[in-house]
Amino acid sequence: MTENEKRVLPGEALAIVEEFDPGPGTYVDESGYVRAAIPGIAVFDVNLKIVRIKPLRSPRLPRVGAEVVATVTSVRHDVVFVDILGEVSLRGVPRFLYEYSSIFPGAISIANISDEYVKDINDYYRPSDVILAKVVSNTAPYHLSTKEPIYGVVYARCARCGHLLEPLNNRAMKCPRCGHVEKRKVSSLAGSKLLRINIKHFLVRTRS
Ligand SMILES: [Zn+2]
Repeated sequence: MTENEKRVLPGEALAIVEEFDPGPGTYVDESGYVRAAIPGIAVFDVNLKIVRIKPLRSPRLPRVGAEVVATVTSVRHDVVFVDILGEVSLRGVPRFLYEYSSIFPGAISIANISDEYVKDINDYYRPSDVILAKVVSNTAPYHLSTKEPIYGVVYARCARCGHLLEPLNNRAMKCPRCGHVEKRKVSSLAGSKLLRINIKHFLVRTRS
């Protein structure tokens, strides 16, 4: 048997992060406990060492106000197209709430990227970036906004060597391997170790 199942409530401790990685519906707190983010059935995959929650209600669609993780698929002169992967909660300890049952198309118009005037959209997002954003429309393609400081890029790869970039400030990221600096709209949470742990599952999924 490779999976054990148990019914849980939000906040319930499931494991320590050294034992199981946080999967959909869970999060890691400041003390290193993996906890349930939503009510449901905790499923412990002892082979992959990952715990996830099967939601009691059927998986949701993106809705206005939801905070989501998305990957950039293409950048046009006045709009950024993304794939929306799942829902997170960014207030307090970042939580990975739901992985959507399918990938939803999303778009960020140039007016919704930043509070500042956006001269060149390529200085904000690039294809394959993993971003945090807020949903601002109720039908597909879902319109997203990244105006608030917490939204923007959390993971991006170096254009020169492919290594993961590290946040330098809210408008730039730097490659720790080759030193290359690239412009981005960087999430204020991009440097948060807890956020990185709690959305690691999405990064694994998007790696080609
Ligand atoms: Zn590099």
